Amino acid sequence: MDLDQGLNVITSAQAGERLEFVRTKMRKAQARFDGGGSLDEDAVKLVAVSKTKPITEIVPFLQAGQRVFGENRVQEADVKWPELRKDYSDIELHLLGPLQTNKVKDAVRIFDVVQSVDRMKVARALDKEMKAQGKQLNCFVQVNIGGEEQKGGMAPQETEAFVAELRAETELNIVGLMCIPPAGLPAGPFFAQLRTLAEACGLPQLSMGMSSDYPIGIQMGATCVRVGTEIFGARA
Ligand SMILES: *Cc1c(COP(=O)(O)O)cnc(C)c1O
Repeated sequence: MDLDQGLNVITSAQAGERLEFVRTKMRKAQARFDGGGSLDEDAVKLVAVSKTKPITEIVPFLQAGQRVFGENRVQEADVKWPELRKDYSDIELHLLGPLQTNKVKDAVRIFDVVQSVDRMKVARALDKEMKAQGKQLNCFVQVNIGGEEQKGGMAPQETEAFVAELRAETELNIVGLMCIPPAGLPAGPFFAQLRTLAEACGLPQLSMGMSSDYPIGIQMGATCVRVGTEIFGARA
């Protein structure tokens, strides 16, 4: 993680330009979704995905005003974010990757939002740990929208029942659904399916869209997009 520390560091002004580039694309996509109506700048949340990036490459984006970030590994986040929070108390950190029960305690301590809830066992552990730490993290259910063998997430046809079970058996604050559509296929139809599923579940939030497809996600009604490469540059 630290091998290239310092080599890719940009200024806060450059970081601000990259963020503005993404936000401009977001606003254009939102205009399409809204039919050109009045735009609420904060209607769609931008999660800057900083996985694999060292602290030195993240700081310019904090200096440029970005506060919402995403990581996919608990251990990596633990190395970086408690340190960064010392200087920036209003950070909102999202866990985007798979969660094991033995990492739940650390996850609840480090993160503010969990976007990858997809198993009852982990959900129960999260519920218990949030109560123990007196901390309520908003949660998304991750849906394996393309039904891919190797990918995490709840099967689409089982998602409604899973959400019902979460509501019945835990006090988790389930706010929405998240998906990563299959690579190499148009994302639009998968995003449309996620939206239909969220409506069926009575969930207001949709986390859909990464660097390659966030404008499509927003056009399809995303309330949250997760952008890594287009903000931080390519990962090693
Ligand atoms: C890495 C990652 C992203 C960001 O991907 P980019 O293509 O770099 O924008 C978004 N969501 C999840 C779940 C990820 O793991």
